[in-house]
Amino acid sequence: MKTSIIGFPRVGELRELKFATEKYFRKEISAEELEAKGKELRTKHWQLLVDQGIDFIPSNDFSFFDTTLDTAVLLNIIPEKYQALHLSPLETYFALARGYQGKAGDVTALAMKKWFNTNYHYMVPEIDDDTKLKLVGEKIFTTFNEAKEVGVVTKPTIIGPFTLLKLSTYHGSKQASDFYEDAITAYSQIFAQLAELGCEWLQLDEPALVLDLSLAEVKQFKALYQKLLAKKGNLKILMQTYFGDVRDVYQELIDLPVDGIGLDFVEGRKILSLLEDYGFPNDKLLFAGIINGKNIWKNDYQATLTLLEKLQPYGDIVLNTSCSLLHVPFTLGNESLLSTDVTNYFAFAVEKLTELNDLKQIVENKEDNQDLLNANITLFEQQRFSENEQVAQQIKALTEKDFIRLPELEKRAVIQEDKLKLPILPTTTIGSFPQTKEVKLNRAKFRKGEIAETEYTAFNQEKIAACVAFQEKIGLDVLVHGEFERNDMVEYFGESLEGYLFTEKAWVQSYGTRCVKPPIIWGDVSRSNPITVAYSKYAQSLTDKPVKGMLTGPVTILNWSFPREDISLRESTLQLALAIQEEVLDLEANGIEIIQIDEAALREKLPLRQTDWHSEYLDWAIPAFRLVHSKVQPTTQIHTHMCYSEFSDIIQDIDNMDADVISFEASRSNLDILDALKAIDFRTQVGPGVYDIHSPRVPSVEEIETTIYNILNKLPIEKVWVNPDCGLKTRGVPETEASLKNLVLAAKKVRGGV
Ligand code: GLN
Ligand code: ZN
Repeated sequence: MKTSIIGFPRVGELRELKFATEKYFRKEISAEELEAKGKELRTKHWQLLVDQGIDFIPSNDFSFFDTTLDTAVLLNIIPEKYQALHLSPLETYFALARGYQGKAGDVTALAMKKWFNTNYHYMVPEIDDDTKLKLVGEKIFTTFNEAKEVGVVTKPTIIGPFTLLKLSTYHGSKQASDFYEDAITAYSQIFAQLAELGCEWLQLDEPALVLDLSLAEVKQFKALYQKLLAKKGNLKILMQTYFGDVRDVYQELIDLPVDGIGLDFVEGRKILSLLEDYGFPNDKLLFAGIINGKNIWKNDYQATLTLLEKLQPYGDIVLNTSCSLLHVPFTLGNESLLSTDVTNYFAFAVEKLTELNDLKQIVENKEDNQDLLNANITLFEQQRFSENEQVAQQIKALTEKDFIRLPELEKRAVIQEDKLKLPILPTTTIGSFPQTKEVKLNRAKFRKGEIAETEYTAFNQEKIAACVAFQEKIGLDVLVHGEFERNDMVEYFGESLEGYLFTEKAWVQSYGTRCVKPPIIWGDVSRSNPITVAYSKYAQSLTDKPVKGMLTGPVTILNWSFPREDISLRESTLQLALAIQEEVLDLEANGIEIIQIDEAALREKLPLRQTDWHSEYLDWAIPAFRLVHSKVQPTTQIHTHMCYSEFSDIIQDIDNMDADVISFEASRSNLDILDALKAIDFRTQVGPGVYDIHSPRVPSVEEIETTIYNILNKLPIEKVWVNPDCGLKTRGVPETEASLKNLVLAAKKVRGGV
């Protein structure tokens, strides 16, 4: 029996890649130095995989920003405007990823979207009728060689053509299938070159196969691969799927002349029954995704062994992760604050390699490895923590009334208008202001006990005062305190709630150089003390303008935490909702008139298949949000905020959250969502982001004005707010100040002009 993984966290054990890349962005290191760092990390990771006994070791899963972007660039899917900058390949690559503003020109970045149901984001390739898809890049070959040079024959990975072309956006009249012929040529050249370099296996990632596919798409997929695989020569192809089951294409998939098929037994609810119903060809290797690549809990060996027994009839099996380990932190090895009573239950990326190896040993020789198995069985038999009776009671006592806010939205709008007296097109921000070095240092010092709480708080208050003063000066209408006390919008709440555990170094890449450190839901969640009240109250005391209280909503807290696996997500979310409800009511009682409850990640755990959307998710996620704000006064204005994703298809559910105002990311996806809002006559007031904060570029007043007018073409002016598309914490101070000034000026000009 062999072991494999789909991909490894490339950012490095201590986020080395992030820091090197950021240094490169700041021009503190050269392109060569960045390349050298990449090479060093790749080599280190391959060695680690070798040491852990992994048989199929991936290459080309490394990326300086995103592997979908890498694949686009490899295949010449680079819109003309980036090519016209005539930058070096690396600079062009980063221009696509982050936008570019400099001597060579001024371009915005490609759109960024959530990668299936994860918190990782990919860059959306842009294709127009003139795009000439062809093999122009080298990375997949050079990294294969690089590994070979250090004695590791890897299994290169690349996004397959079906997924790549399905995830791309098309600006002309051509569609995905119009590029199949070119894709076949390009991928077959990749096959040939890899074979020549001595490559045995190539992993083609086709996660799009777990989506709902139309009959036409299934046909296209089949035709595409029949042609492509005819050209595979001696190379062995592993068709790798993940994030669910492949019920719409299973039969077509097993009929293809591939050499291995990777299936996800963790998230793929129907995989086993597909195997049972349709069998699995014995001329192919089954790469069984049995180790969860998305969560941090140890594998239940006994349960996995039972599953593996069921798989016995299907021939040789390779033990695999369910998806790339990119989605879990690097190693438990750096967690010094958590006791082993706790860490015993966890497995991060490195520890998951051990699990693969353990399972392999146990399967191959149960007798000699009985101890390994017994230790794991004992762990799963123990009670981990004592339950919180009170929370259980509260949830039991909930009735329908608890999920409904009265009076209804339109009536509240009138009451709030009267109270808040905001101008038309009110301006605001999403909450956070730049997290400068000294802001982070202040938190770090406090955490390490180097400064007293009074000193820590005094610093934050100074920052809040300056932030409020700046917002007043430039004329924003609804202010924020700036979130200087928060490292991360979820971790901050996790740290303040009972039932949570947090880590020191357990970072996971979110996009590019941005990493997050999701807290872990360990037990029942409850709130024992107010969390945000003091700073919000302080900020409000400095100004007559309303300052928004700033909270993270229950669904986002859940989606950006590592969830429990012993109770349902619904149950965990209701526990969180009750805790945040207490915070909302405390803010209100302390004079905060506007409260924003961020649901940045609402869409993230939306099941990939539409048939499951309501029954498995929205039917409890939307009510959980309503539970949080259902008890506030009519005068209290509830805002929410959501980022990058497609909202159009769940737009009615978003309206049903019954917030008074919602702001969302839209600038990178070209405000497409406005049509959806208009189509359902969206009731909630909206602030579609008028500029992209994920790029350091400063939008001009004219540019923002045009965007506002575009919005007003679609939405009634009395419902529109003007704001950036997300929080400003990742931005520098100069560009933030310049951008916000322009935003306020643009709003004022439009107000004057309408
Ligand atoms: N209020 C948060 C902030 O501004 C929202 C962040 C987010 O949407 N990801 O940082
Ligand atoms: Zn956001």
